[in-house]
Amino acid sequence: MIFGVFMTEKLYDKDAYLKEFTATVTGSFKEDNGLFKIVLDKTAFFPEEGGQTPDKGTINDIDVKDVQIKEDVICHYLSMDIPVGTEVKGVIDWEHRYTNMQMHSGEHIFSGLVHREFGYDNVGFHLSDNTATMDYNGKLTKEDILRLEMLANRVIWENRKITASFPSSEELEKLDYRSKGPVSGPVRIVKIDGVDLCACCAPHVRLTGEIGLFKIVSFENYKGGVRLNFLSGKRAFLDYERLNDIEIKLSQSLNVKKEDILSSVDKLLKTVAELEYSNTALRRKEVESLCKNSSSGVLFLEKENTDLLRFTMDELKKHLSCVCVVFAGNDAEGYRFLAEYDKEGLNELLEGFKGTFNAKGGGKSGSIQGTLYGKREDIVLFLKDRFENMFGNLS
Ligand SMILES: [Zn+2]
Repeated sequence: MIFGVFMTEKLYDKDAYLKEFTATVTGSFKEDNGLFKIVLDKTAFFPEEGGQTPDKGTINDIDVKDVQIKEDVICHYLSMDIPVGTEVKGVIDWEHRYTNMQMHSGEHIFSGLVHREFGYDNVGFHLSDNTATMDYNGKLTKEDILRLEMLANRVIWENRKITASFPSSEELEKLDYRSKGPVSGPVRIVKIDGVDLCACCAPHVRLTGEIGLFKIVSFENYKGGVRLNFLSGKRAFLDYERLNDIEIKLSQSLNVKKEDILSSVDKLLKTVAELEYSNTALRRKEVESLCKNSSSGVLFLEKENTDLLRFTMDELKKHLSCVCVVFAGNDAEGYRFLAEYDKEGLNELLEGFKGTFNAKGGGKSGSIQGTLYGKREDIVLFLKDRFENMFGNLS
């Protein structure tokens, strides 16, 4: 108990659909971060608890920035003070809350089914505005997940009742309910008819039909079990809308029917690979003739991939025994370089690049590589002035 403040009556326990309420301020404290911690005799604001982020909304038109619970006292964090004794009006951001209720109830259905079908426990739950995950202490395959997902949606279509209650300790002993660990004090049991019994403090929808849709969007192995990312209710619908929009845009830009998108992309990727292959063959031919006609070991290419840089170096070394440096890039974006020499001097060259052209890179004896920034003519001038004995005829 916070000094002088008694536990807050949780209005959301009895009525998850309460959007507005009146209450009295029983505590007001200025925090170090400049916010005011306001405690009420009762509240409909659900605090951050059980893996779920807190409700949003206003108290006397002041934005509620955070809601936390400590020893049954619920603290609302506001940017302005409200004196003790004031009668206030609280308004819940209903869109946000209802979306969370749809998500959380969806999780209960799925976890209940996982427990029934596989005997696994839900050992982690996280629900924020961006992510929603459920962890189970056993492995599930893709096929298992698809089957469970279909079962969960069937429970939604069957429009089953969801109720919350506080059974007596004798009643509780007889109940076979899910729980994330030992619970103290009165235990709130959320029941989904014929599907699940679970100890939970959060607000839920009244009927499974209100969830509308449940979808697992991805899963990964996690701590010997599995972690699933899921969506339900409005958030699942918004995601469907987003995906459908992508599908329409792809279908338009590829100029194919929706059902032909994947085969069309496959074809496109094959064509790109073939073009890359023939382009590389052409570039190699060009490079071969460039290297044959080069009188110095310094060669500038356009932006090239690592393979071609290597190929160019090998070609150059066929014709020249001096130090060879191949640059690929342009003045504006910088150059990648590869330099090879079987005598001393490469370290000095690398240090010179670092000092003059802000180069990054390294290498082993006989070969260095990296990136540098400068104008092509300045690089040539630098090599002429500082390393002419290594390069021979630089023009
Ligand atoms: Zn729950």
